Amino acid sequence: MRLDALWNYMQYDMEADRFENGMRNSPNRLKLLKQRDFLLEQQNNMKKVENNIATMSDRLEAVQDEADRLQGVLAKLQQELQEHQPETMEEIQKQLSAAQKLENTLQHYEQELAKMRKESEQFDRMQREIRMKAARTKAEYDELKRQYETEFKDAQAKLTELKQRSEEEGKAIDPAMMARYRQIKQHAMPPMAKLNGDRCGGCNMSLPAATRDKLNTGEEIVECDNCGRILFMPSAE
Ligand SMILES: [Zn+2]
Repeated sequence: MRLDALWNYMQYDMEADRFENGMRNSPNRLKLLKQRDFLLEQQNNMKKVENNIATMSDRLEAVQDEADRLQGVLAKLQQELQEHQPETMEEIQKQLSAAQKLENTLQHYEQELAKMRKESEQFDRMQREIRMKAARTKAEYDELKRQYETEFKDAQAKLTELKQRSEEEGKAIDPAMMARYRQIKQHAMPPMAKLNGDRCGGCNMSLPAATRDKLNTGEEIVECDNCGRILFMPSAE
């Protein structure tokens, strides 16, 4: 079984694969992916902060409403006190204590509101920071993307050329043999290995006598018992 054509084809096939791999790992591409992830993260952060702001504003409104209501109750109580002077000491004390209690509660709400306003400001600040960071990265991302698009277009043209060349070489190969090659390629790269004495040049395992015999008869494709690569004996050797 002469495998020179398949071996020859493999060189072109591997070159195209290597080139494609290089494209996938291009520094600009990896950087773009990283920036895209960062932008998505900022979008999520922004959403979280927006939710916090919405919740906070609801709470602030509720507490403010309650404080306003108590303010009204207190004002009414004070007015009543002015209009109907209590007669007994006990009554005076009761009214004063009720007013005091209301004032205490109101004070507590005021503190609560002040705290919430401060938190709101913090959220606003966070929002501004996220927006700034995202805008900066977006500008870099857009610029890099422009560069990468040119780079990609050139690389894509080269890859097409390499693929066409290997395809051209592949035309000489028997389809069944090619199918086997493709299958082996799924788990072993490169899918063929030169014989290295009595060892597989791919995984360096020494081959059993039966495998060597099969190779010597040259009647079929022989695969390494260990790694599964197609074993190749160059014609000159
Ligand atoms: Zn092997």
